[in-house]
Amino acid sequence: MIPVPGFEGRRIAVFGLGRSGLTAARALKAGGALPVLWDDSVSSRMQAEAEGFAVEDLTVADWSGFAALVLSPGAPLTHPKPHWTVSKARAAGVEVIGDIELFARAIAALPDTERPKVVAITGTNGKSTTTALIGWVLKQAGMTVHVGGNIGIGVLALPAPTRGAVYVIEVSSYQLDLTTSFAPDVAILTNISPDHLDRHGGMAGYVAAKMRIFQAQLPDSTALVGIDDAVGLNIAETLTGRAGRLTLVTTVKHHNWDDWRVGFEKTGAVTAIDGILASHGEYVCNLSIARSLPGRHNAQNAAFAWAAARAVGVSHEAAVQGLMTFPGLAHRMEEVGRLGRVRFVNDSKATNADAARQALSSYERSFWIAGGRAKQGGIDDLEELFPRVVEAFLIGESAGPFAARLGDTPHRISGDMASAVKAAAGAAAATGREEVVLLSPAAASFDQYPDFEARGEAFRAAVLNLGATPSGHG
Ligand code: ADP
Repeated sequence: MIPVPGFEGRRIAVFGLGRSGLTAARALKAGGALPVLWDDSVSSRMQAEAEGFAVEDLTVADWSGFAALVLSPGAPLTHPKPHWTVSKARAAGVEVIGDIELFARAIAALPDTERPKVVAITGTNGKSTTTALIGWVLKQAGMTVHVGGNIGIGVLALPAPTRGAVYVIEVSSYQLDLTTSFAPDVAILTNISPDHLDRHGGMAGYVAAKMRIFQAQLPDSTALVGIDDAVGLNIAETLTGRAGRLTLVTTVKHHNWDDWRVGFEKTGAVTAIDGILASHGEYVCNLSIARSLPGRHNAQNAAFAWAAARAVGVSHEAAVQGLMTFPGLAHRMEEVGRLGRVRFVNDSKATNADAARQALSSYERSFWIAGGRAKQGGIDDLEELFPRVVEAFLIGESAGPFAARLGDTPHRISGDMASAVKAAAGAAAATGREEVVLLSPAAASFDQYPDFEARGEAFRAAVLNLGATPSGHG
């Protein structure tokens, strides 16, 4: 745990007693603060009380006595409307912060020589993969690394800071909205497309939240910005000329690239075009031979990881070695097994068409298992990729509508995972060629599973049940 100093002997309101709220309360207490906890759920309050925390009804508390409100990222700060605790805090002039801000303050309070480095990752897609990949690369290079935040372990539950350690932290837009002084040594924005707009009051609010990852960065720090999308490009332009190093990351050759790149003064660029990673125009490595980084989207993630590793002092060779040996993340284009010439790939995390597009476009041919609880638009946007689908095997609530959308593309309704895997494996083996059975549902899992992880595990179990050889993970 990371004790949070700076609030010794002062009362702090903590609202939202999920994992991150309770961890924040523990970290504050360890730093000498007096956290006061509340949640709408009675059972959460009982759990907090059982742990010895002060639980007080914040609807009737004296807010003037609080040094801060630590808000769960699940509670709205601004939209659709501010949570009632936010209104009370504002009325009393109490600052509203989150766990990432507490982490930032704990790190900033350390003497220069003791302060660990912080690499932070945000963006609409690719956060978890990039975070895990950077963690892996740094670990392979022999560094002491702590990976967490919005992925895996909450940031304040990570081990306490030690000299020379590096924290690699995934941060969501909700968490960033609750920061003021977060100053990562390396800040990464992977890409931006419309997401969570209801919580940010529209695209401008979402972009503003993401931009906060750069707002407090110090002059000797590094900003890595993905410019494949128009918003990222705009942000890069905004950051140009500001103190600190700015490196652009792109996987597409923008037309008149050379012309406008000149406009980014003192700006380096890392490119990952057609699988070739290059930095400032110099060849780095061929990503198509990396063990677990298929597709253009992973090339983008790899480009960030390479640049981040170099920025925290990893050698060129060690960084390349790390990329090549990354075992991949569970449920994200994870090869789970092989049977004869058929590979089985679990991309259960693809809960929308956008994510499934990445997976489908990574393979020339696939036997595609899809379906679940459809998102708006279903698989409409994937039509251009249907020719790559040898046959689709549809599961869950959306099987019917997806079948209608697939039209002439061969498909059958399998219903459940086990039937789909069995049928897809049979059809793939029958071709006698190297084939891929791909679970990339383009739909949420909640109709049949508690979450995408459970869905991915059901896929893995069904694959292994057929007698496939597990590919091994991590
Ligand atoms: P996040 O943590 O941002 O949700 P993940 O790394 O978990 O991102 O990936 C989620 C899904 O998005 C995966 O199914 C993957 O296929 C796709 N994806 C991964 N990286 C990228 C990227 N750089 N750009 C677009 N899509 C991506």
